[in-house]
Amino acid sequence: MHEASFYIGIPGNKAKCTLCPHECIIQEGKQGICKVRSFRNEKLISDTYGRLSAIAADPVEKKPLYHFYPGKSILSLGSIGCNMHCRHCQNEDISQCIGITPASLKSYSTEDIMHRAAASGTDLVAFTYNEPVVNYEFMLDTARAMHAAGRACVLVSNGYIMPEPLGALLPYISACNIDLKAFDAAFYRKVAGARLAPVLRSMEMIHQAGKHMEVTFLVIPGMNDDRELFRKMSMYLAEKFGKSQVLHLSRYFPHYKMRLPATSMETMEALVSIAREYLEFVYPGNTGTAMDSNTYCPSCGNLLIGRNHYMVTIPGIRYGRCQQCEQQVHGKFSNQ
Ligand code: SF4
Repeated sequence: MHEASFYIGIPGNKAKCTLCPHECIIQEGKQGICKVRSFRNEKLISDTYGRLSAIAADPVEKKPLYHFYPGKSILSLGSIGCNMHCRHCQNEDISQCIGITPASLKSYSTEDIMHRAAASGTDLVAFTYNEPVVNYEFMLDTARAMHAAGRACVLVSNGYIMPEPLGALLPYISACNIDLKAFDAAFYRKVAGARLAPVLRSMEMIHQAGKHMEVTFLVIPGMNDDRELFRKMSMYLAEKFGKSQVLHLSRYFPHYKMRLPATSMETMEALVSIAREYLEFVYPGNTGTAMDSNTYCPSCGNLLIGRNHYMVTIPGIRYGRCQQCEQQVHGKFSNQ
């Protein structure tokens, strides 16, 4: 049993978890909203410490990260639990713990992860698949060990975390992909059971800490594709994080409790076009080869990175600069 960090005991044999903005009040023997943090014998326990539902080497593009060591492999770790309850969740079995308990998962140590990463030929590890914030303690220990060994960790998250734990984690994280679900507080409340403001606060903290951040936005027809709201979101991203902020626009398909039809290509094209009025690096996702997801130099138009599904070529970058015009390219690149 691994004691959780970030909680306070309150009268009546209860605990208040202060890891994420839900700030659950948990009674003895019960769990929080995320289903993986429980109060037992006067202690808050991280039920999933070291327990993983998946461990696999993926292309870093799959996270998605397009400007963070493109073409590299990243060892990706998933557990179970989530602090949101999105009706369109793509990983609902592990996020909502459907038919899976922490005890049913295989246990790993941080050393196991380090060895697995080395054996997979990568120095990158991602916390992903389910919401890693709710598995905070193992993530932090692994990230610290990786950082001490000169390796890098990536957080793929909904950004729903309180400032103190995020601040304690960020020194050991090299890059983040934040899933911004909508630029609309009502959407967050109704569809995800959460709030928008803490997600924006997390993104601003990540940016202020100087970490590489990419943002993913799943476009759901009639739910978060209002053109004016989307324009406001694009303007917000550019104003807060700069026009080089990377934005992935992912096409929705019906899944789990959300049965709306798939997002049309017309909508995808319209939103990509709006976002590109403000941002230099906007990438469509889940659109097959119908839309261009290459990277071009914002300065001279040179092809920097070519992508075909997860096949990546980097014809236009040398030492982090455009080979044609020498413009610095936003992101982290190997010195090829
Ligand atoms: S991490 Fe889990 S237990 Fe803690 S406040 Fe968030 S949902 Fe509740």
